[in-house]
Amino acid sequence: MNSNPRESDSNRVIVFDTTLRDGEQAPGFSMNLAGKPDKARALEILGVDVLEAGFPHASPDDFNAVAKIAGALETTTVCALARCHAGDIESAARALEKARRSRIHVFLATSPVHRKHKLEMSREQIVETAVLAVERARDYAAESEVSAEDAMSTEPEYLAEAFRPAAAGATTLNAPDTVGYMTPEEIAERFRYLIANVDNADQLVFSAHCHDDLGASVANSLAAVRAGARQVECTINGIGERAGNCSLEELVMALKVRSDFFDVSTRIDTRRIFATSRLLSELTGQPVPPNKAIVGRNAFAHESGIHQHGMLRNRETYEIMCPQDVGIAETSLVLGKHSGRHALHKRLQQLGHDVDDTRLGQIFQQFKALADVRKDIHDDDLQALAAGVDPLATGPWTLEAIRLQQNGENHYHAEASLRHADGRSGRASATARHLMDAVAQAVTDAAGTLVKFAALNLQSRSKAQQWHSEARVRAEFDSSVWHGQSRDSNAVTAVAAAALDIVNRIQRCRAGAGPSSALSPARATATSS
Ligand code: MN
Repeated sequence: MNSNPRESDSNRVIVFDTTLRDGEQAPGFSMNLAGKPDKARALEILGVDVLEAGFPHASPDDFNAVAKIAGALETTTVCALARCHAGDIESAARALEKARRSRIHVFLATSPVHRKHKLEMSREQIVETAVLAVERARDYAAESEVSAEDAMSTEPEYLAEAFRPAAAGATTLNAPDTVGYMTPEEIAERFRYLIANVDNADQLVFSAHCHDDLGASVANSLAAVRAGARQVECTINGIGERAGNCSLEELVMALKVRSDFFDVSTRIDTRRIFATSRLLSELTGQPVPPNKAIVGRNAFAHESGIHQHGMLRNRETYEIMCPQDVGIAETSLVLGKHSGRHALHKRLQQLGHDVDDTRLGQIFQQFKALADVRKDIHDDDLQALAAGVDPLATGPWTLEAIRLQQNGENHYHAEASLRHADGRSGRASATARHLMDAVAQAVTDAAGTLVKFAALNLQSRSKAQQWHSEARVRAEFDSSVWHGQSRDSNAVTAVAAAALDIVNRIQRCRAGAGPSSALSPARATATSS
C-alpha cells in the first residue's frame, strides 16, 4: 500500500487536514452531512495528503460522514479518529471500509494530570494500551497514527519511552500541544529530543498538532518542521477547538514563500487555497476576518495612497507573494479617502473606462465626496461614477418592515415588506440556517431582484451604551459583483438595509442604462400585497 513518505522524500511535509474533525468540533462551525463530502473533495483537489474525516464512534452522524467521505476520495488518505478502545477502532474500521487509502488515528493521554485524574492508569498500563490499540488499528487500515494527548505536558523521557513500543507498529507519531501553551523554541527542543530518543525514528513520521490559544500555532508548527517533524495537522482558516488549530494556508504559504529558510515542500496546490477557504466559510456561515493572513479580504489590499502608488509601479514594493499564488484573481486595490488620483485612474482603466484628464478630474471630485461618506469604495461604485450615476442616491425601494423569528434550533424565518417609489409594494419570506441569509434573501425576493449572495458580514459594537451594527453584503448579479452596506442600531435592520442597498443600486444602474433595461421592477417576481 502506501510507502512511508519519510523514506521516499525527507524534504516533504505531509499536510494532514483536520478541518472536518477538530475544526468541526468548534461551536458555530458544524457542517451538515451534505456539505462534508463537498468540503472533503475540495481538500483533495487542494492536495492534502491525509484528511481526518471524523470520529466514527462518537455518533451515527460522524460515522456516516466518515463513510461517505471514504467512498468519495481517490488519492487522499482518509483518516478516522478512535480512542484506544476496541469498539472505537472497530467503528473507525467499518467507516473506512470503502476508502482507497485509509488511516486509523488512535489517541491516549500521557501527561501526569491526565494519567492521574482522567485515566487513573499507571505509566505501564498506558503503554500497554497504546501498543494493543496500534496493533488492532494495523489489522484494519494501511496506515496507523498514534497521538499522545497533552504530549507537551508529558515528561519527555516518558513520552519517548511510551512511544517506543507503539512506534513499532505505527507509521506516524503525533505529539500535540493540546492546550496551546508552548513556545517555538520549546516545541523544537521537544521534537529534537523525541526524534533522537525514539527507536527507528528514521522509519517514522513525527507529527505536530498545535493549538492557537496564545496565537502561536503556526509558529510552533513551523518550529516543529525545522526540528524534523514531517507531518503537520492543520485546518482551513485555522478553525478548531477554542482558539483553533494551525492554519493550513498560513503554514503552507510560510513554507513556500520562505523555502530558502525551511527547505521543505508540500503537495498543496496553493492556487486552490482561496476558493477552499471561501467554501468553508460558505458551508459554516462563518466569515473570514478581513485581516486574516493569506485569505482575509484585506490580505492583498492596499489602501493608503503611498502604498498604492508603489504597488502600481512595482508589486514587489509591498507584496511578498502574488495574490495569484493563493488563487485570488488580482490584488484588490480597495479605494478609500486616502487613495490618489493615479490609483483611481488605473482602476477605472482596469474596469474599462478610459477617461480623459477633464473627466478624470470630475470623477475624482465625486469620488472624494463619496469617500467621505462611505469607508470603502468598490468597483461597482466606480462603475456608477463613470456611468454618471450618483452612488449616494437612495431608492427606489424602501424598507417598510422586517420580521424575524427562529424556527427550532437551526432555522430562521424572515418576512420583508418593501415599498417602491411608484407606490407598489413587495413582500416575501425566506427560511435559512443563518439569520443573515434569511433576512437578505427575504429582502431581495421581495424586490424581485434575484441576486446570488457571496458574503454577508455583520459587526456589532456598543458605543456610549448604545449598540451599533454595520452590515456589509456582497452579491453577484448578471455576472457583476455588487456591494451593499448599512448601519443601524438594530442588527436585523442593518442586514435588511444592506441587502436592499444592493437591490437599489442594481435598479438605479438599470434605470440609468435606459428604457430598454432588461430588469424593470414591473418584471419582478415580488408578491404584490
Ligand atoms: Mn486538537
